[in-house]
Amino acid sequence: MKAFEFHNPTKLIFGQGQLDKLKTEVPKYGKKVLLVYGGGSIKRSGLYDNVLALLKEIGAEVTELAGVEPNPRLSTVHKGVDLCRTKGIELILAVGGGSVLDCSKAIAVGAKYDGDMWDFVERKAAPQAALPLGTVLTMAATGSEMNGGSVITNEQTKEKMGWGSPFAFPAFSILDPVNTYSLPKDQTVYGMVDMMSHVLEHYFHQETNTPVQDGFCETVLRTVIETAPKLINDLENYEYRSTIMYCGTMALNGVLNMGMSGDWATHNIEHAVSAVYDIPHGGGLAILFPNWMKYNLSVDPGRFKRLAVNVFNVDPAGKSDEQVGEEGIQALRDFWSSIGAPARLADYDIDDSQIEVMAEKSVRFGPFGNFRKLNKEDVIEIYKMSL
Ligand code: NAP
Ligand code: FE
Repeated sequence: MKAFEFHNPTKLIFGQGQLDKLKTEVPKYGKKVLLVYGGGSIKRSGLYDNVLALLKEIGAEVTELAGVEPNPRLSTVHKGVDLCRTKGIELILAVGGGSVLDCSKAIAVGAKYDGDMWDFVERKAAPQAALPLGTVLTMAATGSEMNGGSVITNEQTKEKMGWGSPFAFPAFSILDPVNTYSLPKDQTVYGMVDMMSHVLEHYFHQETNTPVQDGFCETVLRTVIETAPKLINDLENYEYRSTIMYCGTMALNGVLNMGMSGDWATHNIEHAVSAVYDIPHGGGLAILFPNWMKYNLSVDPGRFKRLAVNVFNVDPAGKSDEQVGEEGIQALRDFWSSIGAPARLADYDIDDSQIEVMAEKSVRFGPFGNFRKLNKEDVIEIYKMSL
């Protein structure tokens, strides 16, 4: 276990009926609120009306930024930054999924910076301040509600990249599982693939003496595996929605992985695909993660065996670690297929024509991955395995 500091400043407010807490949280930061949301799901579900009614009750002055895209775009961030400046915004309130939250984080730091927010994504500068951000989450997936990370797409250069800052943590996040009832089955599945992928990114590490962390990771994976089939057949079940929502937050709020550096190569490889093809993040991960695993099985077969046995109940008797590991990878693939996740790039009509371009984008900051460093040739191989 490495030396570490853990500091998560986000106030998490979880459970049915918790939306009312907007009335106590929002006034702490001011009256001028930028309400950020996506393509309209919150209007269809009625959440928009509920949020506006509560903001009205406390006399908030609301400015709206609607239409944040899945895979949020830099041009939308710029619009939000302009609104913050012209309207003197005091609090950003993001209501939606990870895309709305990530976009709002970028707006929050961009509003306190004289240059272009993209400088932070390109590591040319680091945020020194941010507007406060509150969130109302409508989709369990990214963990963005309780972390300082964000992923933004520059649609002009076709780049999609993650960035993070201690200033990007939400001040508060309201998680009412009921607000995820309207999430359709395919997006529910993508969200569960994403949160499992976050746990897997942690799990493939090179530290020693991390028994609690490894066990936490396995528990979250097993819980998603047990709950997912029930949830996709019963989308408005409070128990299943709340379990999955809690898993999504825990998967990427820093609690599971204290003292460990996870791998994170697969996320980088996926971002290059969704930068070029604008596919759902979770869909891309479902295709790529098992192939990253196959490609790296030989790095530490014992780790793959542990996953296979402890999470997928593979019987190790009489088999080599590699064999057991391979069965575990197949079990992951089969599980994701069983809940309707895609398995091949061809499922999104993606052929080999852009492999070189995507691989080049993935190595933008050099070789990457902590479990094993990958270079461009490695990434090309993983894309080829995924066709
Ligand atoms: P999302 O892109 O925020 O949302 C996907 C779709 O689901 C949108 O069309 C959205 O519609 C719809 N939706 C959301 N909530 C809904 C609800 N309750 N009912 C009906 N429809 C709903 O999905 P996401 O997976 O949460 O976020 C993906 C983004 O996050 C990607 O860019 C990914 O790279 C990034 N990411 C970030 C982190 C992080 O730590 N920050 C980690 C992993 C991935 P509307 O637009 O109409 O609302
Ligand atoms: Fe992710």
